[in-house]
Amino acid sequence: MTSDQEQLPEGAAIPTTARNYVGGWDNTSGKTHSIVNPATNEEFAEITYSTEDDVNAAVAQASEAFEEWRRTPPVERVQYLFDLRTELEDRKEDIAQALTREHGKTLGEARGEIQRGIENVEVAAGIPNMFREGSGVVEDVASGMDESAVRQPLGVFTAVTPFNFPAMIPLWFLPYAVATGNTFVLKPSEKVPLSSQIIFEAVDAVGFPDGVVNLVNGGVDTVNTLIEHEDVEGISFVGSTPVAQHIYETAAEYGKRVQAQGGAKNYAVVTESAKLDQTVPNVIGSVYGNAGQRCLANDVVVGVGDVYDDLREDLLSAVDDLTVGYGLDEDTDVAPLITGKSRDRVAEMIEDAVEEGADLIVDGRDFEHPDYPEGNFMGPALLEGVTTDMEIAQTEIFGPVLCLASADDLDDAIEMVNSTEYGNASTLYTERGGEARKYRYEVDAGNIGINVGVCAPMGFFHFGGRKGSFFGDLHAQGEDAVNFYTEKTIEIERYFS
Ligand code: NAD
Repeated sequence: MTSDQEQLPEGAAIPTTARNYVGGWDNTSGKTHSIVNPATNEEFAEITYSTEDDVNAAVAQASEAFEEWRRTPPVERVQYLFDLRTELEDRKEDIAQALTREHGKTLGEARGEIQRGIENVEVAAGIPNMFREGSGVVEDVASGMDESAVRQPLGVFTAVTPFNFPAMIPLWFLPYAVATGNTFVLKPSEKVPLSSQIIFEAVDAVGFPDGVVNLVNGGVDTVNTLIEHEDVEGISFVGSTPVAQHIYETAAEYGKRVQAQGGAKNYAVVTESAKLDQTVPNVIGSVYGNAGQRCLANDVVVGVGDVYDDLREDLLSAVDDLTVGYGLDEDTDVAPLITGKSRDRVAEMIEDAVEEGADLIVDGRDFEHPDYPEGNFMGPALLEGVTTDMEIAQTEIFGPVLCLASADDLDDAIEMVNSTEYGNASTLYTERGGEARKYRYEVDAGNIGINVGVCAPMGFFHFGGRKGSFFGDLHAQGEDAVNFYTEKTIEIERYFS
């Protein structure tokens, strides 16, 4: 148990108010809401939502800053990113401490998250080189005539991000948008705004020109003002599928670029050749890490053929070893859910699955933490006998629940994997190359793991996702990000003298 729940390590500091950043820290005049710690449900910070005027002011600043920023050579623009990396590195522990308090995740998960965010700053610092790809010249397309393509930024971009990775996901967008010469407005999840505050302390310390990087806090109204704004050129979105679809359709209606990552329903398949002693901890990390609140969680696990019995037994024993607790406590494996409402929704899904015929062989619903009775804790749950016609096999759970299913062979298993409306990720546990190839070929998901339960692409690759998990063409990160944030202008030239 943590003796003082809010005690910070020496020298660490986390903000207690979430403010806007528009060419500098800015006070908003909208409504104020509390930020509560999911482990204790105690209020420890507050957020003020932006008014329409606040959003307009941010877009106006970003618009004004664009002309100068696009003229700043890319090699100079990325100097700000090198500095940003240093400033973020210096604040890593503060961000992790803020993440655990606002989101609930364990400190280990929080530290890993910010590291993955910083990785994108590093990748975007290579923009001058990435700009060469997709550009280029062809000499003599006709006699004495040359043709070239050059990348150009478009203007103001915005990103709207979800609650489950509050520090990493804003960094999927911010570095690429500004490195390519655009200006940027972030709207983080209103549930977890504090880690973005520290990211913007780093932005402030770097000294970007005023208006290049901005932050507006708020909820649905703030998002709608941003997507409908005539000076916003494009939107990057990550969140649930219905909202992703709404953002995609609205952005299209207003003639904007859009990349909208939605929810997920991911399956893992375990074959007879899998190494169970490594597979099982990997499955457990995928399903119960971040309390199951991740878009890459493989919450349905399919045992193929004879592996099923051993897999079941090993999973049961691993689940039994999990410690549920406060993210600040060193031994915690399963942290609380973001809200009590989320916990109740997950509990209801379990109840419905049992009514549909699944066997609840581990039930974590009644878990109550002796030291934090008010927290949104839920113990790990394990359902057996899950079939694809059940609601729980088709709907994202976003909680610490593993659904165990069985298949006769790999073909059956792949049919199960492809039965959902989503296509974010899927993992195959195997030691056979032929099975792995078949899986990659036939599974309709954008991120495939082979013996990797959380197949989150590195920053220099795009983040896959398809079907109901992605709306758009160009994904986050890597070369796709460069294409999303730039327009390619064709120039055909000849000279008469
Ligand atoms: P959410 O859709 O509720 O909210 C995401 C963002 O959208 C927030 O900033 C919120 O303010 C805004 N928003 C919410 N409702 C809106 C509306 N009606 N109109 C306009 N804006 C609105 O998502 P969440 O609960 O914060 O995040 C969890 C979801 O995100 C899960 O479904 C998860 O799978 C998904 N997710 C997907 C990925 C991916 O890469 N595909 C990554 C992380 C999370």
